[in-house]
Amino acid sequence: MIIAIDGPAGSGKSSTAKAVAARLGAVYLDTGAMYRAVTLKALRKGIAYTDDDALAAVMRETEIGFDGAPPDTRIIMDGEDVSAAVRSDEVTKNVSDYCARDAVRKALVDQQRKIAAGHTVVCEGRDICTVVFPNAEVKVYMTASVEERAKRRQKDFAAMGIDKSLEELINDIGARDHKDSTRANSPLTKAEGAVEMNTTGMTLNDQIDFIVDLTTKNR
Ligand code: C5P
Repeated sequence: MIIAIDGPAGSGKSSTAKAVAARLGAVYLDTGAMYRAVTLKALRKGIAYTDDDALAAVMRETEIGFDGAPPDTRIIMDGEDVSAAVRSDEVTKNVSDYCARDAVRKALVDQQRKIAAGHTVVCEGRDICTVVFPNAEVKVYMTASVEERAKRRQKDFAAMGIDKSLEELINDIGARDHKDSTRANSPLTKAEGAVEMNTTGMTLNDQIDFIVDLTTKNR
């Protein structure tokens, strides 16, 4: 069974999806972390996002996987735990450019389908309901106002001891939203048949219950 969740940055996907997976005893598949890992590797190697040949080579030689049960799932790249490194500002600012390239998307979508085969999976990203698992039993499109999303990000950063202005975060999120929803390749959009869930003002528990209820109804 596949529970597919799409939505923009800060809509509440990750915290909700992790908790839903933990509650259902399902696999948690964070596809954004996979795009972030590829971006991290390309940046470390000094490969420009426009260099499709070099990116194709990176996709052939890089091993990306996950370790541990949700909510403590770690992302492992070539044997290294990169869970913290993929959240750096540099990766966050560049990931929308790298993830739009064909070679990157094709390889990661294939891998996502392989990871999910035969399991109950909670999978979150931007193209999960539209491209990766269009036949998922549960499809959810999560949204929230840009101000609410920026406030959530500000709290996440504060927890890491990093001080960020709301204005900077609103600008960053707006830029990433724009790139993710206007790209030619698998743009972020609400899939047909997806249930829209506006999380502005919802608590995390409300969000988890909403998706678990939907899953129970669709079983
Ligand atoms: O979900 P997260 O914010 O970690 O995703 C990072 C970036 O990866 C997104 O801004 C988007 O550009 C890209 N992404 C994507 N397709 C997915 C998941 C993430 O293009 N399925």
